Amino acid sequence: MEFNDDVALDTSQVQDQRGSGGGGIGGRVAVGGGGIGVLGAIIYFVLSQLGGLPTGGGGSPLGLSEVGSGQSVASTDLARTCRTGADANNNHDCALVAVINSIQGYWTDQFARSGTPYQVSTTTFFNGGVGTSCGSATSDVGPFYCPADSRVYIDLGFFKQLQTQFGAQGGTFAEAYVLAHEYGHHVQNLLGTSARVREGSGPTSDGVRLELQADCYAGVWANHATSTPTANGKPLIKTITQQDITSALDVASRIGDDFIQKNLGGGHVDESQFTHGSSAQREKWFTTGIQTGNPTACDTFGTNDLG
Ligand SMILES: [Zn+2]
Repeated sequence: MEFNDDVALDTSQVQDQRGSGGGGIGGRVAVGGGGIGVLGAIIYFVLSQLGGLPTGGGGSPLGLSEVGSGQSVASTDLARTCRTGADANNNHDCALVAVINSIQGYWTDQFARSGTPYQVSTTTFFNGGVGTSCGSATSDVGPFYCPADSRVYIDLGFFKQLQTQFGAQGGTFAEAYVLAHEYGHHVQNLLGTSARVREGSGPTSDGVRLELQADCYAGVWANHATSTPTANGKPLIKTITQQDITSALDVASRIGDDFIQKNLGGGHVDESQFTHGSSAQREKWFTTGIQTGNPTACDTFGTNDLG
């Protein structure tokens, strides 16, 4: 994917807490409620399968914790570094800022068309651990959305893990799919969808329907990504290639419940434990979003055919 060089970035949509270290966060994962991130819940499940969650400070069995408790890293200044699409083309952090801007630019327009105001949601970059209104979390939960404070949280080490542990191809657009999925949960939160779902797991559970809808919403954004204008009239994203879409589908196929159970869990597929949908379903709903570009096509609650 490529960004338009002369479009301004809005770094206020990202809070960079990577310099603050993970001190004081240790302990078990405490993120709860229906809004836990898809990937987080998956990893939570994997860890459960492997015999329990790691405790903070002791190193992660997933090799994710690059910064230990109390350590600090040089604070990055996104506002200074990430000014335009040209910066996004040259700097990974800035590319993620641009992606977040693009996702929210689309949803702002889409909500406006339906007469509802969109509330901008900040993404927090963290290392090791983070405190949220949903409780404290370590990197091991993966990226997640917290409905209580309407924010997305991500340790960017997760993207490396997708490649090293899940075997994903990676790439910026694959990462954009992950972020767009989390913003799909924000949209669900704003629309009241998340509040209406019942707890539970299983292949046709509300939880799975919510996750597949977030995948579909991610695809809807992708459909509009190169045509959503910014203040200067140009879209932030200049091009998305077929290879980009393939790399996103590749990630979707590796975070399906069956793939994870088979390859990263106990090796046995148990549909009753599904929380996010199978790999095929995740690919299907992301594709539905991309092909239609229409959020109403993402009615995973109103269909008997989840794929
Ligand atoms: Zn999710």
